[in-house]
Amino acid sequence: MKVDPVCGMEVDERSEHRAIYKGRIYFFCSRECKEEFERDPEAYLKGGPKGMPHK
Ligand SMILES: [Zn+2]
Repeated sequence: MKVDPVCGMEVDERSEHRAIYKGRIYFFCSRECKEEFERDPEAYLKGGPKGMPHK
């Protein structure tokens, strides 16, 4: 399991929501989290998960 860097949830590595940033691959629980990450990757990589609320 990987950890979604945006919300901190555990994500299956088979998740279709993924992004490559600086040569590393990141997994997300949802498209919303992926888009949030891509908006400002450094904020999540440096600051850690923000615990975004999910539906
Ligand atoms: Zn998430």
